[in-house]
Formats: sequence, structure tokens, C-alpha cells
Amino acid sequence: MCWMWSRSESPNTILDVCEQPWQSYRLFLRLHQPVSVSIAKTAARLPAGWYVYVGSAKRKWAFRLQRHCQQQKSVHWHIDQLTTHPAVEVRAYVLSRLPECELVRRTRGAILIPGFGASDCQQRCGSHLRYLPDAE
Ligand SMILES: [Zn+2]
Repeated sequence: MCWMWSRSESPNTILDVCEQPWQSYRLFLRLHQPVSVSIAKTAARLPAGWYVYVGSAKRKWAFRLQRHCQQQKSVHWHIDQLTTHPAVEVRAYVLSRLPECELVRRTRGAILIPGFGASDCQQRCGSHLRYLPDAE
């Protein structure tokens, strides 16, 4: 299931959210079983559990988030390998006004695959995908 955070139930909620100067978002994913991915033609395996991915919301954020929630799509970004997998659920996303890499720095969790989700990263975050081993 996928839902959008909002501050009110009013009919103008979507418009209200759209007018905020969002810069980034966190996407919360649940892997119900281990998932194999590949990065730079190297295979890796992510254990089951919770993950958080940080992306840019500067341009077309509504489109991007909607795309993350679609299972049927071509795999273009690293994260698409997870969001197209039948054992992976996109559970929530939260928009932020912090710059993308700043939000990564404030996101806890472990880097399991260096470089994953960080093709465009200029600030050496290591990865924009973090594993949350303690989450339930
Ligand atoms: Zn970064």
C-alpha cells in the first residue's frame, strides 16, 4: 500500500502539498524475503526487512513517487529493482524540505551495497538506500 502524507483531510490537500518547496523524500520499503539486485553488473543480495531510500523531490516529485508505487515499469534506476519485485512493498513516503544528501546524512541505517541508489550523488553519501535492521 502506498499513501501520501498530508496535514489535513481537506479537498485542497493535494494542491496544498504541491505548493510546498519540497526538496527530497524518504521512501520506506519492506522486503518480505531476500532480494537479489545487481549494480554495475555485480550481483548482490539484500536480506528481508525494512529499508529507507532517499530521493530528490525537486522536480516532478509527485510523478516520481507515483512511479515508485507502480510495480509494472521498466527498470531504469537501482531502486526500480526493488520496487518492481513481487516480494517488495512500498509502504510509505515522507516529503522533506532538506536537500537530498542532507536527508541521507540524517537517516539512520546501514549501507549494505555501496553506491546503490547514489548514481547522481555528488556528496559521497555511500548509498541512498539504508537497511533498518531494528525496524519492525
Ligand atoms: Zn547523496
